[in-house]
Amino acid sequence: MKAPRFAYARPASLAEALALLAEYKDDARVLAGGQSLVPMMNFRVAAPKVLVDINRIGSLAGIKVSKSFVRIGALTRHVELERSADVAKHLPLVASAIPHIAHPAIRNRGTFGGSCALADPAAELPACALALGATFVVAGKKGERRIAAQDFFKGLYATALKAGELLVAAEFPLAKPGYASAFGELARRHGDYAMVGVAAHGSTRGGKFADMRVVFFGVADRPQRAARFERALEGRPAAAKTIAGALAELDADLSPRADLHGSAATKLHLAKVLAGRVLGKMEGVA
Ligand SMILES: Cc1cc2nc3c(=O)[nH]c(=O)nc-3n(C[C@H](O)[C@H](O)[C@H](O)COP(=O)(O)OP(=O)(O)OC[C@H]3O[C@@H](n4cnc5c(N)ncnc54)[C@H](O)[C@@H]3O)c2cc1C
Repeated sequence: MKAPRFAYARPASLAEALALLAEYKDDARVLAGGQSLVPMMNFRVAAPKVLVDINRIGSLAGIKVSKSFVRIGALTRHVELERSADVAKHLPLVASAIPHIAHPAIRNRGTFGGSCALADPAAELPACALALGATFVVAGKKGERRIAAQDFFKGLYATALKAGELLVAAEFPLAKPGYASAFGELARRHGDYAMVGVAAHGSTRGGKFADMRVVFFGVADRPQRAARFERALEGRPAAAKTIAGALAELDADLSPRADLHGSAATKLHLAKVLAGRVLGKMEGVA
């Protein structure tokens, strides 16, 4: 099918884009990599009246490392994250997640901001943003505001972005010494959206787990931290035995719904198996 008719604008600056979004409000949709929006339009799941193409706004792209955080511009392509030495060095969790996103052709066009603004519950980057405690920078006609990742993802394909707002970037705090991270997902074919995924980050300093943030994706309507599981790890030896002992807490942390991939019980089982594997990969785990 072809997309319904729409008007198209290609602003050259952020101010121009924000003016268009303010003018057309709910009738407008931002076009970034188009890897999700264009198929949605062709399937007539989305029918925006006006597309605001942000691809000419250079200030929205790129990766910058400062003293306290790594800033990833919304228009940064997945492939740039994949190839970035800064991401490999400072955000190894993101570096290990990227190869799981779709296929090279999609990673060449798809953007960091598009992935986070879409908020697919089985997407990798929103889970990484939550595990790493990132802050989203959002701009509207009235100025900028910052939203912590835990408050940004509101539900199935829903975020804290309001009509007229644009996701500009995300700021990832630089990891403190002794912190490590690990990532894993189960998918039927490599590149498919995850059946279940885990992004974990925290300290294994002195051979003990501390300050763990363990985020599951593909199991709820948004990326989800496992609070009881995290508490069961806190202060305990970073060892396979600790992880195995904590896994039962996931019964209370997660309540996956049955989906195309399997029953709720299957998904919970897979989440536990994967959590065991991913936590076991964390640097410093004996
Ligand atoms: C076959 C296939 C397989 C895929 N597999 C995966 C996968 O395994 N994991 C995964 O995470 N993704 C997957 N994707 C999606 C891909 O990662 C896309 O890149 C991503 O979903 C959207 O990014 P985009 O830049 O293409 O956004 P677009 O398609 O341009 O936009 C997506 C949505 O976000 C909004 N938006 C985009 N940028 C902004 C912004 N800066 N501010 C506000 N709103 C914005 C748009 O208005 C739209 O609603 C897959 C896609 C395809 C086609």
